[in-house]
Amino acid sequence: MELEAGIVDLERLSLSSGQAQALELKPALAPVELAGQSYEAEGGGAAGRLDVSRTTSGWALRLRYETPVTGPCVRCLEPARIELSVDAREVDQPSAQDEELRSPYVIEGRLEVERWANDAMVLGLPSQPLCRPDCAGLCAVCGISLNGADPSDHEHGGGGDPRMAKLRDLEL
Ligand SMILES: [Zn+2]
Ligand SMILES: [Zn+2]
Repeated sequence: MELEAGIVDLERLSLSSGQAQALELKPALAPVELAGQSYEAEGGGAAGRLDVSRTTSGWALRLRYETPVTGPCVRCLEPARIELSVDAREVDQPSAQDEELRSPYVIEGRLEVERWANDAMVLGLPSQPLCRPDCAGLCAVCGISLNGADPSDHEHGGGGDPRMAKLRDLEL
């Protein structure tokens, strides 16, 4: 279905208690800032699936989508590609006093699914995106990427000052 203003009107689905409906939708996903770098969902959005279940006093909601996210590797600054997989759930019982049973994305029977999808993207991304798990990063001396480089080319004069090596160990 087409999203209007990023919202799904849950009331208009007219589900009665115990009924469920699956909706295919495509929320727009804004770039995420992490450590001063920008990470973007490929194509600016993702095809997703929203499962809406009517409970006796509200809704149980599940949102799933997958999308590649691209941005710089935090170690070597080369392009990194993260396969983001989101599977998020929300429960909303409008009459409940307990905050745990209220969803921040459901306002008067309307689900702000695009805001939810964007928050889920932030939560789903690694805090330190890498081009590959064993990225070797940049040489501390000359700044060249050590991925695929011969380590002996970056000894820069016999392993350097041993005191500096100690410091580098401490930083790890
Ligand atoms: Zn890297
Ligand atoms: Zn070097």
